Amino acid sequence: MHTTELTQPKSLNVFEEAAQMGHEQIVYCHDEHTGLKAIIGIHDTTLGPALGGTRFWHYESEQEALVDVMRLSRGMTFKSAISGMNLGGGKAVIIGDARKLKNEMLLRRFGKFVESLSGKYVTAEDVNMSPQDMEYISMETKHCCGLPEYLGGGGNPSPVTAYGVYVGMKSAAKHAFGSESLEGKKVAVQGAGSVATYLIEHLVKEKAQVYVSDIDEAKLAHVSKEYGATVVGLDEIYETDAEIYAPCALGATVNDETIEKLNCAVIAGGANNQLLDEAKHGRILREKGIVYAPDFLINAGGVIKVGIDYLDSFNMDRVMAMTDRIYDTCSSILKQADEENIPTQEAAIRAAMKRINDAKALKASF
Ligand code: NAD
Repeated sequence: MHTTELTQPKSLNVFEEAAQMGHEQIVYCHDEHTGLKAIIGIHDTTLGPALGGTRFWHYESEQEALVDVMRLSRGMTFKSAISGMNLGGGKAVIIGDARKLKNEMLLRRFGKFVESLSGKYVTAEDVNMSPQDMEYISMETKHCCGLPEYLGGGGNPSPVTAYGVYVGMKSAAKHAFGSESLEGKKVAVQGAGSVATYLIEHLVKEKAQVYVSDIDEAKLAHVSKEYGATVVGLDEIYETDAEIYAPCALGATVNDETIEKLNCAVIAGGANNQLLDEAKHGRILREKGIVYAPDFLINAGGVIKVGIDYLDSFNMDRVMAMTDRIYDTCSSILKQADEENIPTQEAAIRAAMKRINDAKALKASF
């Protein structure tokens, strides 16, 4: 398994990509009656069951959905490994417009596919999925977490994810500016969704100045009114005078085009797969002196929360203690990357892979 150059190829040889990216299993799920079309990506189960959310998304092609699930599931392996969780990496995508297709029976049918994997894959929320949706899935499988609080689950993981992003951002600020304080810092937050809103709350409490963009006017109106965030245009978010860019919407927003526009010294956000091309854009950020807080490291709060909920009984003190450690892990990864003059993402992947390989050796021992 090594750093991938995978972006959006026109055609994909699944076995070749699986070999290059290190996937164990790709599962296609189809049900004509409900219209379910889903792909489950199981990347690596060395450390434990492959846990990762299900994303409901209107992909333009099946190819695009496959690329997404492969990249996301690989990211989950690294995320759990570097966070000290005994979990492997997996992810699922359901293809289609959630507003039109999502209903109880489709979600329960998907739950049956998850159950058929006997716990090798464990699902949770991701984009366009709610704790209520997890309740439907859980009617058909016990390998499901992030359930509503009234069912004994931990509920929405976004507040913990946002807290982890916040401490990761402070760690990156300390590395870049010599102080972890975000007071007076300008932060450009892309997205005004769940993670972004909780993040903005922390930032504003610390007296940072927030710019925000979203495609959803109602969400923008909320964060502007509630937190005094300055609304900017969808493309304008890359060109502000912010010292910190926080991608909290979709992946691949750090690419050839946007890197040219960014004036920031730090990138630290909640979105998965922020670098379009991990190796290339990781290198360019280093050359430009932009401190990149690896996405899977600082957005791990959510998997810590749902993972503890699944593996053990729910314990919020433990969740917060593990999420707080993101600060120190981020500091040591950024330092390591500087010492070796390598992209920060590469340093984080190395640390994650070391824990996975150490666990393999441990398994082989008495
Ligand atoms: P969300 O759906 O609540 O928010 C995403 C927001 O992005 C929405 O408000 C949407 O309108 C907006 N958006 C879409 N396209 C945009 C564009 N071009 N420009 C600006 N905004 C745009 O999702 P979320 O749960 O807040 O997750 C946000 C990101 O963080 C996702 O990439 C997700 O995979 C990642 N993430 C979330 C969690 C979690 O606990 N929720 C954990 C880890 C990673």
